[in-house]
Amino acid sequence: MIRQSWLTLLKGFYEKKYMISIIDFDYTLFDTLRFRQVALPKFFGLTTSEFNEYYQEIRLHDRGFYSVMTQIAEMPFETEKKIEIIKSLPKFLQDCKVDYLFPGAIDLLEQLKSGDNKLVLLTRGNTEWQKMKVNNLLLGDQKFVDFFAEVIYTEVLKCEHEDVVKYVGQKVVIINDNARENRDLLALFGDGVTAYLVQSEHSDNIKHQYKIWPDLESIRQDIIKK
Ligand SMILES: [Mg+2]
Repeated sequence: MIRQSWLTLLKGFYEKKYMISIIDFDYTLFDTLRFRQVALPKFFGLTTSEFNEYYQEIRLHDRGFYSVMTQIAEMPFETEKKIEIIKSLPKFLQDCKVDYLFPGAIDLLEQLKSGDNKLVLLTRGNTEWQKMKVNNLLLGDQKFVDFFAEVIYTEVLKCEHEDVVKYVGQKVVIINDNARENRDLLALFGDGVTAYLVQSEHSDNIKHQYKIWPDLESIRQDIIKK
């Protein structure tokens, strides 16, 4: 009984005060396409098309998920060389810095965070690899990950993850490039939720009539208007 009233109170508190922004990482904030066409091939000393062969092959065998660790394991190197590559990974990722964030990403995050709003990063993929990318991303002295009150890594569908489902009933804004995921998240959260679909190679992966936003700055402007 006591527990129930606490939960109601807590829910009411959130409803009044917070807007929860649930934001995707790859292809939404982070220019993953350029990262895999430029940064990753360079890291491995491969051409873009050589790298792409590994990339597609790995995804084919792991539910569509790529991981740099899987690639290192599969490359024709001696163990010592592989260990050396693994050790150099954090520095490589840190050196990518802000260069691989889309223009307007930080301004958008700051806008969404203003007031008492809560930022949640939601990313689906190989968890180990997603964590490496997110945690090593530096913006000068600041860590990218520190923008977020919560980071949810998932290998199951986003709409099925319990840490996402717990926000049902709250004021939620979704920013994501994947139309199929947005459809499922909209179905989960129901009316009243706003989902911005960001343009990418995944923004037309289902038939839909959603508006596609060309860049993060136009989303920021729209949020300011509301
Ligand atoms: Mg994405």
